[in-house]
Amino acid sequence: MEYKESHYSLRCTACGAEYGENGNGFLLSCSHNHPPALLRTFYKEKLEIRNDLPGVFRYSNWLPVRRIVNGIECPSVYRSTGLAKAAGLDNLFISFNGYWPERQAFIKTCSFKELETAGVLGRLPENNNGTIVVSSAGNTGRAFLKVCSENAISALIVVPEKALSSLWLPENSAEFFRNRTVKIAALRGNADYFDAIRLGRIISSMDGFFAEGGAKNVGRRDGMGVVVLSAAEAIGVIPDHYFQAVGSGTGGIAAREMSERLLNDGTYGRRIMHLHLSQNEPFTPIKDAWENHNRSLKIYADDSMDDYDVKMRINSMRASVLSNRKPPYSLTGGLYDALMYSSGHMYGVSNEESMEAGKIFYETEGMDLDPAAEVAVASLFQAVKMERVKRKDIILLNITGGGYRCFKKDNEIVYIKPDIVFDLKDIQGNSSAERVGEKIALLYEKVYI
Ligand SMILES: [Zn+2]
Repeated sequence: MEYKESHYSLRCTACGAEYGENGNGFLLSCSHNHPPALLRTFYKEKLEIRNDLPGVFRYSNWLPVRRIVNGIECPSVYRSTGLAKAAGLDNLFISFNGYWPERQAFIKTCSFKELETAGVLGRLPENNNGTIVVSSAGNTGRAFLKVCSENAISALIVVPEKALSSLWLPENSAEFFRNRTVKIAALRGNADYFDAIRLGRIISSMDGFFAEGGAKNVGRRDGMGVVVLSAAEAIGVIPDHYFQAVGSGTGGIAAREMSERLLNDGTYGRRIMHLHLSQNEPFTPIKDAWENHNRSLKIYADDSMDDYDVKMRINSMRASVLSNRKPPYSLTGGLYDALMYSSGHMYGVSNEESMEAGKIFYETEGMDLDPAAEVAVASLFQAVKMERVKRKDIILLNITGGGYRCFKKDNEIVYIKPDIVFDLKDIQGNSSAERVGEKIALLYEKVYI
């Protein structure tokens, strides 16, 4: 691949310090002494669209990548007629991230999380020989499971046990999985995404493993930003409004960053894209903080706490992938700043409302949606009702997942079993690193001292 690491630099959103990409391609934070802040990518050239490169790599001069990773398809962007009419909108564009052959949508894991893998795995040097640790509530895990298997990249996917039903592969990808570059660790019992993050953090501090980095990884955010790039290319302008359901809010930060890059680039006009982000009730920490004009979030993420009330609320959400207890909201360059920059809005959507929105989408557009995408559709109806968008505004609706039923009808899929199961007590207390270390050593048949 001809793009070298020199096609971008990393800048701290707090102090402005500038960094070149380091040797292992995974610089995640600024080394200066200040409160937490995200690094952001700055690309040296204007956006160049490369039709000769596969999938999302058509945008690779605006991705922090040094190699091509195969099998990652672009979203399908189209102008809606059915849903647009139902919502009373003239210029509604849908970015469909999933499987829908009639719409040229071929993301086989049926989730936009696959886009993240392009930036994260493309950022790895060719000679990387560590194992990347990815903690997931389900969809991100499935995306890394498929792409790492197909490209023979060593990965350990960490999920709560209840997310195992999300870990499936199309049968032809499962062939690659049998090469076993990817292993699965599950966390038993009442574990949620946050517990998986804790376990992932313990493992990634061990020799031979490194953390994917979540929202801090510019590769993850810029990969998700492909939604905005592909929409601008298809529509011809930066949209006025952007709708997405969020758990961590990383997709919202990514959309702000990519739209701001496009604004500075000028090819697709110079408008600010307003963020409209939604969460699934009854667990809506980002919406609660934003509506109270508060930069700090209520603390749900105490390592020693096993908060029953929070778990109950999370367990009652239809869109469980939206249940992040510690989203990157407060830090500099994070979601609070993204909402401020874009004069954004937050929405809370009930289970009933999201189910109804999914039904309307199916009736008007003709495809099944992921529950999180249904939350986003419901928020669009709320925004119209509240007159936060006008009939003629150019609106981008990010359907972050869909076409599961359609894909499973056309294709055989294989559910992947965990290689190792942890208990919640394994990750609690002072000797958690030792307990986890022993199990991981057995799994990899190595001794970590
Ligand atoms: Zn800094």
